[in-house]
Amino acid sequence: MFKVNENYLKLPGSYLFSNIGKKVAAYKEANPDKSIISLGIGDVTQPLAPEIIKSLHSAVDEMGKAETFHGYAPDLGYEFLRNAIADGDYKSRGCDISADEIFVSDGAKCDSGNIQEIFSVDNKIAVCDPVYPVYVDTNVMAGRTGTYNPTTETWSDVIYMPCTAENDFVPDFPKEEPDIIYLCFPNNPTGTTITKAQLQEWVDYANKIGAVIIYDAAYEAYISEDDVAHSIYECEGARTCAIELRSFSKNAGFTGTRLGFTVVPKDLKAGDVALHSLWARRHGTKYNGAPYIIQRAGEACYSEAGKAQLKEQVAFYMNNAKIIKEGLKDAGYTVFGGVNAPYIWLQTPDKMPSWDFFDFLLNKANVVGTPGSGFGPSGEGYFRLTAFGSYENTLEAIERIKAL
Ligand code: PLP
Repeated sequence: MFKVNENYLKLPGSYLFSNIGKKVAAYKEANPDKSIISLGIGDVTQPLAPEIIKSLHSAVDEMGKAETFHGYAPDLGYEFLRNAIADGDYKSRGCDISADEIFVSDGAKCDSGNIQEIFSVDNKIAVCDPVYPVYVDTNVMAGRTGTYNPTTETWSDVIYMPCTAENDFVPDFPKEEPDIIYLCFPNNPTGTTITKAQLQEWVDYANKIGAVIIYDAAYEAYISEDDVAHSIYECEGARTCAIELRSFSKNAGFTGTRLGFTVVPKDLKAGDVALHSLWARRHGTKYNGAPYIIQRAGEACYSEAGKAQLKEQVAFYMNNAKIIKEGLKDAGYTVFGGVNAPYIWLQTPDKMPSWDFFDFLLNKANVVGTPGSGFGPSGEGYFRLTAFGSYENTLEAIERIKAL
């Protein structure tokens, strides 16, 4: 009789978004006349920029002619895209990253989940708390996290680094030494970030203890402050300790189009084994490349016209972020984030539990957000609103909250 991977059975159900869905559906059924506005999901709403659509059309036409048809893509990505990324995201910022250190994929969720498999199961991971759940859950599946404590909602073999208002959402170095450190800045869910100088301290720490940093920069495009690094490779020494994950989802609206990439510098080694060669092996064995037409669409993001259009989209969402942040402040809330990220993280009034605040907003303002406790125990007492809605809905939602 076959046996299943028992590690999967250890995973507690991911109730966050299904619970939200159920509560909203029940409310709608009981109150069919009410219009509900969701500022809960992390999905974008703006259509793909014209330059991207143009590129998609022309790539589709190429696929229809024998002379320009493309079959399997190179599994590490087409040169035209890897070169555009190396120049546009790295060389232009003074980062020493070459095209052959970039691995094109269909998004940062897969990469952030898959990357752990090139490391030993004995390695100890450290994560920020609250956290994007994929980092922890994929390590659970791999058998790296020990046992789950439902009371504390933590795993015995995971090092949690609380990020709360008390430490300005900047994690402290953990007491216990980790082997793999997951960092995500600008951060989902808190919408906050750290300065380049603070990131440099993490790079120095990782190099000192021989740890690897998995740096998720999915929200890089939203950075507005000068003292924030757009890439971890802006920090000295990052080539020997950091892997960077990037996505086209939030900067270019590719959540449904799917494209991302991972950077593994050739200097990043465990003894004399280069992680670059392990990730290349993994990619080559398990992945057959992102579609040609999508990689052409990705390339369009780096053209002058593409860059200008994407900048406008990001500015559109960040205007929503400002409306949310200022509106909540006017209403007396303590709010964080929303300056270098499209997320606003608010403290619930009088330390109200996150789920109670969810019910309160749903019932009294017909606005849906995400309870902070769903992202980890240190998210309790916080609540996430996203700037990815329409302008009109964002304005209306904030007016409703202000009127409470
Ligand atoms: N990383 C973080 C921190 C995210 O918040 C998300 C999506 O919400 C992703 C990765 C996933 O990105 P992608 O759409 O490229 O899979």
